Formats: sequence, C-alpha cells, structure tokens
Amino acid sequence: TEKTMDKLVALCKGRGFVYAGSEIYGGLANSWDYGPLGVELKNNIKRAWWRKFVQENPYNVGLDSAILMNPQVWVASGHVATFNDPLIDCKACKTRHRADKLVEEWHTANNITGVAVEAMTNDALVNYIKEKGITCPNCGKAEFTDIRKFNLMFKTFQGVTEDSAAQIYLRPETAQGIFVNFKNIQRTTRRKVPFGVAQVGKSFRNEITPGNFIFRIREFEQMELEFFCKPGTDLEWFNYWRAYCHDWLLKLGLKEESLRLRDHEKEELSHYSNATTDFEFLFPFGWGELWGVADRTDYDLKAHQTTSGESMEYFDPETNEKYIPYVIEPSLGADRVLLAFLIDAYDEEIVDAEKNDTRVVLRLAPALAPIKCAVLPLSKKLSEQAEAVYHQLQKHFMVDFDDAGSIGKRYRRQDEIGTPYCLTFDFDSVEDGCVTVRDRDTMTQERVKIGELVPYLEEKMAF
Ligand code: ATP
Repeated sequence: TEKTMDKLVALCKGRGFVYAGSEIYGGLANSWDYGPLGVELKNNIKRAWWRKFVQENPYNVGLDSAILMNPQVWVASGHVATFNDPLIDCKACKTRHRADKLVEEWHTANNITGVAVEAMTNDALVNYIKEKGITCPNCGKAEFTDIRKFNLMFKTFQGVTEDSAAQIYLRPETAQGIFVNFKNIQRTTRRKVPFGVAQVGKSFRNEITPGNFIFRIREFEQMELEFFCKPGTDLEWFNYWRAYCHDWLLKLGLKEESLRLRDHEKEELSHYSNATTDFEFLFPFGWGELWGVADRTDYDLKAHQTTSGESMEYFDPETNEKYIPYVIEPSLGADRVLLAFLIDAYDEEIVDAEKNDTRVVLRLAPALAPIKCAVLPLSKKLSEQAEAVYHQLQKHFMVDFDDAGSIGKRYRRQDEIGTPYCLTFDFDSVEDGCVTVRDRDTMTQERVKIGELVPYLEEKMAF
C-alpha cells in the first residue's frame, strides 16, 4: 500500500505525536506541537544522538549556549549580510516562490543533474529561469518579477526600548554558540586538538516556503557538532564524521535505500568549504536534505577572530605550532530526522482483504520507540497484579498499561504507536511469575520471568 504524508499526518494527530500549533485559535501557519508520544520520540532521537556523539565518542564534549546572542555574532558569521533567500513572484497569479527552489524542482522534474543552483547569483537565477522557460508551478505562466532578497533571521528587541540599538536576533543555527565558546571550552577542558563540541537546541528561520509538515518549519531543533582539527588533517576527519553519521542513521533503522549521500562537486562547494556531503532522504514528496556534513576550514573561527579581535589560535604543545583549527560540521535537524524515521517506520499489513482489515505498524527501532512496552492483563481480574509489573518497569522505561478491550485490539493500538513489546499477564503468570512477551515485528511470543524483564528489554534497546 501507498505511504502518503496524509496518512502519517493523520496518525500523528490522532495518536498524539504532532498537533497543529495554536489550533483552537485557527493555528499559526506551519507551527506544530509535539504531543505526549511525539515528545518521547523526539527526546529519544536527541538522546540517541547525544549518546553516540558525546557519551560514547572519545573526542567530543557538550554545550548548551544561549539562543539570544550579541548581534555582532551574526555580522561575523555572515548571516546579517548574506542569510537571504532569493524571492520571486509570479506576475500572473501572484504566488511567491523561492527562485532557487523553483529551479531545483524543475531540475528534479526534468531529471537534470550537475547544475550548482546554490552557487548562482540573483542575475544568473533570473536569466536561467527565462532561458529555460521555467513556468510557475501554480498557474503555468512564465512571467516573473525580479528577485528580491529576504533575510531569514527573526528579529526581536532586548530591554524596554524598541529602537534599533536594542535589536537582536533569534539564532538561525546553533553552531555560532559553539564557535564563540571555542576558547572557553578548550581552556577549561584542557582538550587537545582534535576535539569536538556538540549542541542540541532550537533555531529559528523566517522561512519563505515552509511546509511539508515538519520538514521545513520556522522554529526547529538542530543537533550540531563542530569538530576542530589541525589544518591538513581535515579531509581525513571529514570522512570519519561522514561515515559516523551514516552509521548512526542505519543503526537506528533508517533504510539504506531511502538514503543517498550526495557529495558536492567542486563548482557547487561554498567558497570556504573543502568538502560537503548532503545526506538526502526520500520523503514522500521527493528527495530532501536531512543532514549536512561540511568541511568549513578555518572560515568561522577566523571570522570571529577578525570581528571580535580575540585570538582564536590554538597552541599545539606537541609541535609548538600556533594555528586556527579547521572545522568539520555535521548538522542535523531533529524535526526533519524525526519525520524521516516515522516515514521509514510506517507500514501497513493487509490482514484480511475481504474484511478490509489492515494492521498499521510503526516499525521504529526499540531505542527510538516512545513507549518501550505495554503491560496487558488478559482479564480485568488480573489488573491489580499486572499493575504491579507496570509500576516496576516504569522505574526504567516509558511503559503503557492497557486493560480495555480485546487483547487483539490492544495489540493493534500498540503496533500503531510503535511499541516494540507487549507483555501479556495471564492466569499462568500468577503461578509461574512469567509474562508472554510479544514482538511487534516478528509477532513471536516468548515467556519471560518478570524479574528478568528489565535486562531483557534493556538488551533489546541497545544500539
Ligand atoms: P535547506 O536547503 O533545506 O533550507 P539548509 O541547507 O539551509 O537547508 P542547513 O543550514 O545546512 O540547512 O541546516 C542544517 C540542517 O538543519 C538541515 O540539514 C536540516 O536537517 C535542518 N533544518 C534547516 N532548516 C530547517 C527548517 N526550516 N526546518 C526544519 N529543519 C531544518
């Protein structure tokens, strides 16, 4: 059966993964709230990232920097001058488009590859659109306005006066909080290069064309690593992190065939980058960037050194050399990868075609599943004893308890939210101290001692 965004959005809304934001007031365009299951899933994704990128990695440490920063940060980073989307309007139907996206979509529709759209100037974009006769996807006409630039940063004011002196921005990426703390972290942790700093947090972009559910939103979360290394060793580390990120996705169950690693060609690279790979995922609406891994050279630290006047040099005690480290940056969107995990996990199984009976299953990796197991007493008479098992497991995992309806219906409810294990407490359980563990994917059943459930489930959760 077909996987459509509509079905997934309906499931997310119906089961409490994601709701439309401010819904009782008619919503706020493209804002979404994570419900009880969504917050668990998202936390599990962030935890899984932190686990592999900080806890289990020998090189990295963590940071939680402020969203509001000195506006000079965004001057140094280039966001004030160049963080702009090229906008173009259709003269006929007045629809607004991002010129670069218009071209990219046209390329996809016509199977054209190898054109570096990101590197095109405004004039080049306009000429290209004219020359190729690209039409408005909304009305089919080919009459566009000139391109205007629109800065994507959200502005706000700090303090009581709303004048330009007090104007600050909501950060459009978490990375700059890491760069401005490079010296602090190096000094206080006494780390030697190479080392990395990881951060998870909200970022804000006043996107012109948000949409596709939580794929492109204006308030989103990023999981970013800035890895500092010696110039000349950067491509080696780039390959290390590229493979590390790939491995993380596959270990958590993303399908190899829904992923493609697109290495930027020379002409396509940003002027400061030595290498960039976009991890792209096959969304129902087409391939979209999931994770950007870039060798950013010393561009960012150098820019902060110039703008702030503070040295960003590192003194290498082994070689007595001074240098500004190069940076490898893997940058992943938490919301976007959550959507990817959901899409890959969504499955429909026809149980009985005549009765129109379909089993909807979210085949999420146990490490990511919002609820790890559900305790299901076979009869209401067993509820009290089953509840004791539930309370015991709650100390270790997110667990559900359900004694309403037939056991088959209860299994289906858990399948639909991705719960990997259902524990049935039956009349034998009272005698033998075991429950039947049913596996969501294999549907096999196994008797497990109640006292051994925690290590049993913990082993399944490992990745
Ligand atoms: P795009 O070309 O899709 O606008 P980008 O190249 O601007 O993305 P980066 O600045 O490299 O994106 O951001 C790193 C990651 O942050 C992206 O790969 C994506 O996962 C996530 N991300 C960026 N913008 C958004 C957004 N508006 N909504 C959700 N996630 C986002």
